[in-house]
Amino acid sequence: MEPLQNASGQRSRVCYFFDSDIGNFHYGPGHPMKPMRVRMCHSLVMNYGLYKKMEIFRAKPATKREMSQFHTDEYVDFLYRVTPENVDAYVREQSKFNVGDDCPVFDGLFEYCSISAGGSMEGAARLSRDKCDIAINWAGGLHHAKKGEASGFCYVNDIVLGILELLRYHARVLYIDIDVHHGDGVEEAFYTTDRVMTCSFHKYGEFFPGTGELRDIGCGKGKHYACNVPLRDGITDETYQSVFRPVIQRIMEQYQPTAVVLQCGSDSLAGDKLGCFNLSMRGHASCVEFVKSFGLPLLLVGGGGYTMRNVSRAWAYETGLASGHQLSSVLPVNEYYEYFGPQYQLDVLPSNMENMNTREYLDKVKEQVFENLRHVAHAPSVQGHVEPHLAHDTAMDDQDDDAEDPDVRVSQHVMDKRIQRDTEFDDSDDEGEGGRRDQQSWKEQEGMDVEDEPPQEPVKAPTPPKTESDASLPTMGPSDSNVLHTQTHTTA
Ligand SMILES: [Zn+2]
Repeated sequence: MEPLQNASGQRSRVCYFFDSDIGNFHYGPGHPMKPMRVRMCHSLVMNYGLYKKMEIFRAKPATKREMSQFHTDEYVDFLYRVTPENVDAYVREQSKFNVGDDCPVFDGLFEYCSISAGGSMEGAARLSRDKCDIAINWAGGLHHAKKGEASGFCYVNDIVLGILELLRYHARVLYIDIDVHHGDGVEEAFYTTDRVMTCSFHKYGEFFPGTGELRDIGCGKGKHYACNVPLRDGITDETYQSVFRPVIQRIMEQYQPTAVVLQCGSDSLAGDKLGCFNLSMRGHASCVEFVKSFGLPLLLVGGGGYTMRNVSRAWAYETGLASGHQLSSVLPVNEYYEYFGPQYQLDVLPSNMENMNTREYLDKVKEQVFENLRHVAHAPSVQGHVEPHLAHDTAMDDQDDDAEDPDVRVSQHVMDKRIQRDTEFDDSDDEGEGGRRDQQSWKEQEGMDVEDEPPQEPVKAPTPPKTESDASLPTMGPSDSNVLHTQTHTTA
């Protein structure tokens, strides 16, 4: 592990959120989304020694009340109550809340959502209070979840909740999404406001979720504050960066955000079970490096990523970069070592697949994006006082009906005590169902890919409740009255 030099000579203070319970949740047999990938990543992070370079926290799981800052009470309540045992009694709700095949009801579903959302909210809170420069929550990044329904393996939108937290202190938040899928849930939530600019780079064309056209740029006050970069199959590191860097550079100049959220979905890596891009680990990570180079408070979240060994590699490497360290390319022995054979190397390498993104195509896309960005003014008129405190500081009122701990966000003191420096891991998991490439539903393409994990051959080595109406954005000044957008603006 080698320290990286940065321009200012200062190392970033990193807060990393991890809850080992995350690895115990299962979407069900054959489902491509495997929460265990986050625990695999954590195992690499620990065995590379990164725990010495950052603070590690277990966040307080988000409560129903906190989730309702974005989601409808009815939907959150459903997630709280439904179990595999009683799901048959919720036929109407399953369809209403889009729960079923892609987004199944599994044991501990609500707790899973709580952990994912808690990490992003607490990460945002610590950034806002200047407790760190970069906060990381690989269990988050569930960008497809909608206000009142599940979508694309996502139930609770931890990103929207994290951004809402940032907006209590920050005038303008930039959201960047490098998942292979369009960041539709986040875009939709902030489609009509200039307080959040969203920018998604994704495969577009006969691909889930079907949204994210070049011409979707936001509406109302949010017009020009949504940016979509539709890409084709097989994009390489070099061609990806030839669009990513200039677009992000321009947004930084024009919009001048005061905080950034980067969704690091790793299904954009080469060899992903559902993805179709051809990025190497280093190509993917150079997005993180580039965004970090602007020196703004940065929340890094996970997202998609269905070839577990590669997901964990990329996110571990990116955790290293965040903390200013370049990880050695030889993997350390870890609890999941056998997944990384036969080479036991850190890198995810590109394949020889064809790049369908021609220079002409990318130039056209870039030109159109720049044209839209010409209209972006950096000063959404947010002035005046800054909220004195966050939801995370505030004791919630007693009427909360969560049947868990008293619903109080822990104080910093208690939170600090939760720092986890041990390397305790749970057992590995059964693995290795057939891969699926995602178009509409992963089930439609069952059996298309070869087995991913485990390896074939044995190895020796070792606020107040919200109503149905829109939730208001946190106010930063008397003039700001943006509300969250609810309607779907494009067809799926
Ligand atoms: Zn994805």
